Amino acid sequence: MRLAQLRHWVFDMDGTLTVAVHDFPAIKSALQIPLEDDILGHLAALPADVAAAKHAWLLEHERELAIASRPATGAVELVRELAGRGYRLGVLTRNARELAHVTLGAIGIADCFAVEDVLGRDEAPPKPDPGGLLKLAQAWNVAPAEMVMVGDYQFDLACGKAAGARTVLVNLPENPWPDLTDWHAEDCRVLKTMIGAGI
Ligand SMILES: [Mg+2]
Repeated sequence: MRLAQLRHWVFDMDGTLTVAVHDFPAIKSALQIPLEDDILGHLAALPADVAAAKHAWLLEHERELAIASRPATGAVELVRELAGRGYRLGVLTRNARELAHVTLGAIGIADCFAVEDVLGRDEAPPKPDPGGLLKLAQAWNVAPAEMVMVGDYQFDLACGKAAGARTVLVNLPENPWPDLTDWHAEDCRVLKTMIGAGI
């Protein structure tokens, strides 16, 4: 199947639609999380009251980042093109859903996504678990093979593969994960050009 024929698109958000602004080492330092630990995994293992306080700090910090979000190269034009074609669009992110909406609004494409099609960390298991994609497949009444997952990281691609969807890697000049990737574009501007060319 050609990429341009796929009508159901799910995007990772941070680093895919937006320029990555999370300073993970700084966040870990502020929350006293060892550098080698996963932030959400670390918080999940803490006593509930401690975890709640740190989650609150994280949400507030992320809200400031969300308001200041900048679109990745070509991302706004790509999403508008797909929405203009009448394609169904979703987001699967480890960010909180509320902040995902703030972010999409800040870069000017919130109207391209139905509110319920933006899945955050409380609506879906973390990638590479395919749960979020499968949830959208069910909601959209479409086979995963007719969906495409777009992301900038290995977990996005692995999530797509585990769900049985097609995968696109963006925003990296080289592809470190060819086995997980169906299509690779240097950025969303190039990806839009590929779709326009009927690839
Ligand atoms: Mg990302």
